[in-house]
Amino acid sequence: MTEALARFPPTRTAALERLNRFVPHAGRDYATRRNYDLGRDGHDGVSTLSPYIRARLLTEADVLEATLARHSASAAEKFIQEVYWRTYWKGWLEMRPAVWGQYKTALKGALDNIQTQSGLRDRWEQACKGETDIECFNAWARELVDTGYMHNHARMWFASIWIFTLRLPWELGAEFFLRHLLDGDPASNTLSWRWVAGIQTPGKTYLARTSNISKYTEGRFAPKWQLAGEAPALSGPSKPATMPLPDADLPIPSARTGLILHDDDLSPGFILDAGIAPLATAVITTRSGVSPLSVAPHVAAFADAAAQDTVDRFDARLGAVSVVAPTSDALAAWASAAGVDQLITPYAPVGPAADVLARFGNLDDTPPLRRIRRPYDSAAWPHATHGFFRFKDKIPKLLGELRGLRAAE
Ligand SMILES: Cc1cc2nc3c(=O)[nH]c(=O)nc-3n(C[C@H](O)[C@H](O)[C@H](O)COP(=O)(O)OP(=O)(O)OC[C@H]3O[C@@H](n4cnc5c(N)ncnc54)[C@H](O)[C@@H]3O)c2cc1C
Repeated sequence: MTEALARFPPTRTAALERLNRFVPHAGRDYATRRNYDLGRDGHDGVSTLSPYIRARLLTEADVLEATLARHSASAAEKFIQEVYWRTYWKGWLEMRPAVWGQYKTALKGALDNIQTQSGLRDRWEQACKGETDIECFNAWARELVDTGYMHNHARMWFASIWIFTLRLPWELGAEFFLRHLLDGDPASNTLSWRWVAGIQTPGKTYLARTSNISKYTEGRFAPKWQLAGEAPALSGPSKPATMPLPDADLPIPSARTGLILHDDDLSPGFILDAGIAPLATAVITTRSGVSPLSVAPHVAAFADAAAQDTVDRFDARLGAVSVVAPTSDALAAWASAAGVDQLITPYAPVGPAADVLARFGNLDDTPPLRRIRRPYDSAAWPHATHGFFRFKDKIPKLLGELRGLRAAE
């Protein structure tokens, strides 16, 4: 087993154990300690739940409810806000899907440049292997490659150094993260890199400073005179207009329903509890689609094992289960063999699973595909219209609705 999977066992049981261990610390402890990165064995100030939330082995609502059962919303305000950062980024990208396309196009150009510019290729390889002159940067790169995780503050420092000190294209850094992070996510990752680069919030960049790194690593690192002293904002393509949130469907029971389970949402209880009893279930994992390069073995292995855990947990309710290649043709062949007359799937937000499902949905002669969105997402995403600070004002209302939304799931 890889170090990453030993650290993050890909089961809901492991996720719940981690959540239960963390919840007592979600209040004041989190607020005071969350910014400290004390090394790969010292991430006690944060939850390290992100790989589980990414695959929705654990949902945001699971995490928020467990937190509120122990703390008041004001005592756990900081932690609750961080969970909603993820929700905000998902909603923001859902209403501006072209930003993911812009990133992929620019990434392709940057990868082409690596092929033709040996100097750029060498600097990129040194950065990815953790072989630069900057000790902290190297340690974070190696931690990411080995464990599939990096602390939030280290992600900010790392991205800043990548862009402003090493002067590498930000898209290559975002790709390096997606290829190795167990929580690698099209929304949180792309938009956070854009934020550091000064593209997401125009003109506002993030500069990694020696004193800040030294303080929050408790002196483990102090990269004196090595870091860029300024962070001039990069320019990016113009921001696409905001689209309305795409429609979602209702789960309508039918005797011959097929379920498509994917690694953006491995908690299908909200669909099955709506009276859906699938005749057959196709399981697809799509994490290899987050990058044109090969993702780290632990990323694909985590998704595959997490999906298997879901199949084991829901076994009796899924009908005949098949693991299917993540292509529209493979799904069409499965649907035809299964003899289903409608397909239901948890709504997949912008990313590779949504792409596969969209291609499948556009094929002729396939049964209709219903995408069921969680009430949690439908309630929160439409508020991601501007910056997080406007979205944040809605958090008390969203928390107030949480229990009602759960009942609807
Ligand atoms: C350059 C950069 C790239 C990033 N890439 C990703 C990514 O690919 N996938 C990803 O899930 N997060 C990403 N983040 C956000 C954040 O760093 C991680 O979510 C967090 O470090 C996960 O660790 P944790 O579970 O211990 O977080 P905790 O601090 O314990 O937070 C609890 C949960 O809240 C959510 N969360 C916390 N902080 C953020 C944040 N700033 N933005 C969005 N959600 C947040 C996560 O789901 C997390 O599991 C990125 C941040 C930066 C600066």
